[in-house]
Amino acid sequence: MTNAEVVVCGAGMAGAAAAYHLAVRHRLRNVVIVDEREPLTLTSDKGTQGYRNWFDGPDDTMARFVGRSVGIMEELAEESGNAFLLSRTGYAFVTAEPSMRERIRTQAERLATFGAGAVREHPGPVPYQANSGDDWRGIPDGADLLFDPALVHEHFAFVNDAAIAVSHVRRAGWMDAIRLGRWLLDEACRNGARPASTRRRRRRRRRRARAGRVSRPERAPCRRRSQPAPSAPRSSSSSAVPSNCWHSGVSAATAPGLRVPPRPARPSTTT
Ligand SMILES: Cc1cc2nc3c(=O)[nH]c(=O)nc-3n(C[C@H](O)[C@H](O)[C@H](O)COP(=O)(O)OP(=O)(O)OC[C@H]3O[C@@H](n4cnc5c(N)ncnc54)[C@H](O)[C@@H]3O)c2cc1C
Repeated sequence: MTNAEVVVCGAGMAGAAAAYHLAVRHRLRNVVIVDEREPLTLTSDKGTQGYRNWFDGPDDTMARFVGRSVGIMEELAEESGNAFLLSRTGYAFVTAEPSMRERIRTQAERLATFGAGAVREHPGPVPYQANSGDDWRGIPDGADLLFDPALVHEHFAFVNDAAIAVSHVRRAGWMDAIRLGRWLLDEACRNGARPASTRRRRRRRRRRARAGRVSRPERAPCRRRSQPAPSAPRSSSSSAVPSNCWHSGVSAATAPGLRVPPRPARPSTTT
């Protein structure tokens, strides 16, 4: 490999997303992704894998930024047949402090003006719509504020008796970030991006030098596996037959049989 139009340094989630957008959406044909590690193994496989559009601030900068990010994830979920199990269980911010009710309300109203979605208070004119199923589509946006403790315990049975209010943020949930990263890298690769591992290359050169062989070009060819990966969630999507580019070229992190964390069954209460 002698040149590249763009070199993406790092094959974590940010690098995977950058490579995907450059190679797939912007059609750049000579994108190289460099990392001495296997992809998605430094920080990107350590996260809780939650997402939300609900970020406060002195102005609407963060709210617009994360709102746009969630929009892109929705596009990717559509495009991939939801290869990364995007869910919309929401985030539940729970309090046992009476004074927090007003803070929750004020924050929600501010975020609504920032474009994060409508606020619905319960009890109120509109009944609370609890989660049903896993589909991320068709869920109301914004937040439902449950200010009646009976309602809180009816719908959030897992919180303790002290809880008196819940802000249920709706455009939020969980995804399988490893699958997302893998899909992004595979799509980038399918569209001409090339992985390059400095560590692997050094090792290979040393082995070849020891064996007295001449070095070959470093590019790992993209190829399709004939069988869907065991972890592929949708048989009809392109993700069911993922490119094996990173697996054959660089990484074991995207290999079949990779253990993925279990999916949480209820709204996340972490940030
Ligand atoms: C405990 C925990 C929980 C989290 N929970 C969430 C959550 O619920 N939701 C959420 O959105 N985020 C969460 N995060 C944050 C999220 O995981 C990170 O923001 C994200 O993974 C960062 O991705 P990255 O690609 O920037 O970095 P990384 O995944 O760290 O990737 C960086 C890559 O760059 C490579 N690199 C470094 N230097 C060079 C170089 N000079 N040349 C080439 N390559 C280089 C590294 O080897 C690495 O592979 C959490 C993080 C932690 C630790």
